Amino acid sequence: MSVIATRDRRPPASTNGSALAPGAASEGAGAAIPPVPFDHEELVIKRGRRSGRHVIVAVHSTTLGPALGGVRLWRYAAPTDGARDALRLARGMTFKAAAAGLDLGGGKGVICAPAGAATDGTQRRDMLLDFGDLVDSLGGRYITAEDVGISPSDLVVIRERTEHVTGMPADRGGSGDPSPSTALGVEAAMRACARERFGSSRLAGRRVVVSGLGHVGSNLARRLSLAGAELRVSDIDRERRSVADALGAEWIAPGDDLVAECDFLAPCALGGAIDASNLPLLRCEIVCGCANNQLADEALAGDLAERGILYAPDFVVNAGGLIHVHMEIRGYPEEQARRLALGTEDNLDRVLAAARDRSITPLEAARELARERLEAAGGARAAA
Ligand code: NAD
Repeated sequence: MSVIATRDRRPPASTNGSALAPGAASEGAGAAIPPVPFDHEELVIKRGRRSGRHVIVAVHSTTLGPALGGVRLWRYAAPTDGARDALRLARGMTFKAAAAGLDLGGGKGVICAPAGAATDGTQRRDMLLDFGDLVDSLGGRYITAEDVGISPSDLVVIRERTEHVTGMPADRGGSGDPSPSTALGVEAAMRACARERFGSSRLAGRRVVVSGLGHVGSNLARRLSLAGAELRVSDIDRERRSVADALGAEWIAPGDDLVAECDFLAPCALGGAIDASNLPLLRCEIVCGCANNQLADEALAGDLAERGILYAPDFVVNAGGLIHVHMEIRGYPEEQARRLALGTEDNLDRVLAAARDRSITPLEAARELARERLEAAGGARAAA
């Protein structure tokens, strides 16, 4: 069965109008996926003919170009939860691409894995091939890439069914791991924040806490160490302590990291790191990290501003990864990808200046700049 919601240029009946009822989340056990405004161009849900599992693509906007966004393989309580997650994440990708000045739209894929043990072998392959067929059926309006639960070798399988894949492994002619580009962009964003808050972009001597030492966090920590920052790091995986040791960084217990006194808090783990309960306890000057959806609720951006904490919008800060996979479509000129990722500093400068000029939060300013770009390109419908 497929359900397709085709493009509707009317605004949604309500900006809070939920496409589907709340349910289990893909980030953080038990958390709810918030309601999603349904102003998307397309939502396609199919039950894969090989795997029998639901595969989903949400295309939020193609106003600026083809909708690019990773595919997430996750166990959802119900396929409708997967669909809502795809809608939510696709919308975020529209803003991320627009704010970064890329000629890309926003989309996202979801593969609903079965409950129980990790999926591998034939079952995994079947799901990936089913997803590849769905991507191909969209004729290039959606381009897929890696996201949570998907590895580079999974992309190779999807590529068997469709050419609309990016972020392929380097040994398959792709651009490889985007994490170094993401970290490069985050460090550049930190310089913009430092200039805004301290009057100098220098990171040397700044006290930085990196929460989450995965692909991006460990790259970022290495860069910051080279830049002379005073580093403290944390991860729920104690084996990551070796990264701290190698860098000579101080290790903090997870949980203490978010409330440590510092100049920069860099959330680099999962989404929702900052919520209403820990926000009053934060002792940082600036929040600037790579994690997607760092605020459990976007309204918290206002609370952070009230507390005098500068929040650098995550989708502006972490655009380096999207830039990286976008450049692969263009043949991956590495130097250009690097230059664009470094451009995150100027981009965030503009956002912070607009926030100052208009007396709004940087999050509101980033959304406005993205919206202006979409409207100029003829997408007035784009995102409330
Ligand atoms: P990853 O899975 O490699 O790393 C995440 C790390 O966070 C892991 O080491 C994990 O143990 C740790 N972690 C989880 N919960 C934690 C907690 N409560 N406290 C401390 N550590 C915790 O992921 P990644 O690729 O480094 O991505 C990190 C974040 O950045 C994600 O939110 C991702 O969506 C976002 N992001 C990544 C990229 C990229 O290029 N990889 C690009 C844009 C955004």
